[in-house]
Amino acid sequence: MGLEIFNKLLYYVGKKKLKAVFKMAEIKNAKDVLANNWNGELPVDLEKICEEYGIKIIYENLEPLEKEHKGEKISGVMLISDKNNKFIVVNQNDVDTRQRFTIAHELGHYFLHMNGHEDKNRSIVSFRGRSNKMEREANIFAAELLMPAEEVKRIYNSTPFPVAFYLAEIFDVSEIAMGIRLKEMGLGYRG
Ligand SMILES: [Zn+2]
Repeated sequence: MGLEIFNKLLYYVGKKKLKAVFKMAEIKNAKDVLANNWNGELPVDLEKICEEYGIKIIYENLEPLEKEHKGEKISGVMLISDKNNKFIVVNQNDVDTRQRFTIAHELGHYFLHMNGHEDKNRSIVSFRGRSNKMEREANIFAAELLMPAEEVKRIYNSTPFPVAFYLAEIFDVSEIAMGIRLKEMGLGYRG
């Protein structure tokens, strides 16, 4: 998830337009995945969720692929092979929290844009700087999957120090992702 996307989200927060951006379908989908595959422990175990759906995670150096795309930065790829094997390819050069967000984001592509469509031999590449409809939907899904609203509220209310980096650690997300989440939920915090 690129800085451009973050900035765009922040812009929307600033303009109080975020509600129009966030859509119920993406959130419901993420909630369903959590309800079926999550034991309630934080941080959310993404590896287990992938395993449940037969999705293999591959950590790769994506520089050759980026070169093929004029050097445009790529966070990850959701890929279904012609033999119906499912892979999430993650850019291994990214920091851990970004890699985690990528896995959640690619799961979003799988459930929102691929699942049930007999999508063999298909891939969706996530370019860091792009913010089209599908990318936004996958980000909404990822935020709900990694930072379930009810859990964020519960932990936020139980801590006397609502500091973004403290909450970010509990959910194993970047401080900036948590900041966006708190803002979007209307919860004040210290950076
Ligand atoms: Zn994407």
